[in-house]
Amino acid sequence: MDKYAILNQYFGHSTFRPGQEALIDAILGGQDTLGIMPTGGGKSICYQVPALLLPGITLVVSPLISLMKDQVLSLTSAGIDSAYINSSLSSEQQRAVYHGIRIGRYKIVYIAPERLCLEGFLHLAQTLPISLLAVDEAHCISQWGQDFRPSYLKIPDFIQALPQRPPVAAFTATATRQVRKDIEKYLNLRAPYSVVTGFDRPNLFFEVQRPRDRRAQLLELIRSRPSRSGIVYCATRKNVEELCTMLRQHDIPATRYHAGLSKEERAANQEDFLFDRSLVMVATNAFGMGIDKSNVSYVIHYNMPKSVEAYYQEAGRAGRDGSHAECILLFAPSDIQTAKYLISHAGDDNDALTEDERREVIRRDTVRLSAMIEYCKTTSCLRGEILSYFGQAHEAHCEACGNCMIQFIETDITREAQMILSCIKRMRDKLGYTVGASLIAQVLWGSTGKRVRELELDTLSTYGLLHHLSTERIRALIERLEKLGYLETEEQHNTIRLTTLAKEVLFHGERVTFLERRPPEKAHKDKETGENSLLFEALRKLRNQIAQEEGVPAFVIFSNATLEDMARKAPRSSMEFRRVSGVGEVKANRYGKRFVDAIRVFNEE
Ligand code: ADP
Repeated sequence: MDKYAILNQYFGHSTFRPGQEALIDAILGGQDTLGIMPTGGGKSICYQVPALLLPGITLVVSPLISLMKDQVLSLTSAGIDSAYINSSLSSEQQRAVYHGIRIGRYKIVYIAPERLCLEGFLHLAQTLPISLLAVDEAHCISQWGQDFRPSYLKIPDFIQALPQRPPVAAFTATATRQVRKDIEKYLNLRAPYSVVTGFDRPNLFFEVQRPRDRRAQLLELIRSRPSRSGIVYCATRKNVEELCTMLRQHDIPATRYHAGLSKEERAANQEDFLFDRSLVMVATNAFGMGIDKSNVSYVIHYNMPKSVEAYYQEAGRAGRDGSHAECILLFAPSDIQTAKYLISHAGDDNDALTEDERREVIRRDTVRLSAMIEYCKTTSCLRGEILSYFGQAHEAHCEACGNCMIQFIETDITREAQMILSCIKRMRDKLGYTVGASLIAQVLWGSTGKRVRELELDTLSTYGLLHHLSTERIRALIERLEKLGYLETEEQHNTIRLTTLAKEVLFHGERVTFLERRPPEKAHKDKETGENSLLFEALRKLRNQIAQEEGVPAFVIFSNATLEDMARKAPRSSMEFRRVSGVGEVKANRYGKRFVDAIRVFNEE
């Protein structure tokens, strides 16, 4: 059998995705490799296909217990003998796996990095014909990555202890140069064949919303996506608790995850989500790496994350199976304050850092934060914004993100701009110091609040000039003026002052415009795949029922992308069934009849 036959027979795919074939060829040629692909790009196939073609065993180092379990379940259901070794196995189970390895039962074995050098395993490994060592999530070896795992540094020791060095294939979704260099260096890769695929995820729809009431909007978003699985990311544990409770009060099957919960609860909640018993996971960023749930239809950020890297990684957990999915960020200007606070206090209890290093970390984080803020505020293409950040060229408009789908209409705000700028100037003159946007907005609106009265700001001639607008609107205008360079924020105290450009507006009549969002006439849902959604629902139910019977997560049976293709093709025979993308031979034999029957019944009805 060749690689194409393997891809088709076991995985049910008809073509390789970009980068996959080249990596597979290099691995089969005995070369070290480094594969950098976005989450959902299809890294696993790159070592799984060679594993089935090479004579010996393939070891896969993987950082997370849950990930290994899912991978092995998926492989087993595709008819591939595999196993995993980690701390979740009882000693009896471990003995059974060791025995299986010894007698050559498995082609692929996943192992946790900290187990590699334990005596029992090392001795066994030294006697094995190891054809390939694959290192998943290889960025964990870098201290510059956000997921550094010291146990990854044991991998080179393990390789050294082997009688013969197998080719090493490293994979990651982290593209930064530093991390890449670290992977090559610490894993001792030998002239690796590297592939960096594009970072675009065309099936993801990106959108930034600025709702007046975030809680209400969140509820609305989730309600309008019934029976879809989604993740809601929050900045704090407190938010996680509150929102999870709120959703449950509205009968939404939500669960939660953050570092303050017991290990048992975290594991149980994660499992509920994985098995679709809870459709919505509300979590902090502690819920993350290794969540290999391929049928997540949306990721909503209730708060702005601290960097575009973090955002793309978290949002990227949607639509991993290639089906249409949404990444929605609910932005409020107060998020900026929270993020700044978190950044400046991040290293507080980290004694390992010197004062200089701590300052450097804060500096880098602040630079990353400004790119994230830019993403939230931009009126350009959101996908383009992300790809530019990762240094990738792109079209000006993707036509499939919130900003490309929305129309911005330009309105003239020169008069309002003059009022705002002159108010800021008068406030500064009166007080002798600069203040924040919220107080400025209050004065312009004509608030009778305590601070305004105490500072006698209600005596200014600009007091109440913009009473006909809401304070949110005034703040949005202030933000626009800052973006245009007429104002700047003084970093340390977050206060606002005029720049020299302001006088162009104040004294020389420079025209200022504002881009208003006008909702698109057609909802972006029209863009969704033309799936036959009723049939899709019927197939989804059947899939979930089978998953329940077999006690595995639903996506192990078939991914959403596969169900969508199935609904499109509506196969009437097992031969036609085999043509659905994602249906390999074993799965066709095992499930074909039930799905084909269900489609017939559906068509008759
Ligand atoms: P990664 O590890 O890069 O995040 P995975 O290996 O989990 O991604 O693959 C993501 C999804 O893409 C899986 O559902 C997988 O079945 C699908 N996939 C991988 N390769 C192909 C391919 N050549 N054709 C179609 N689908 C593919």
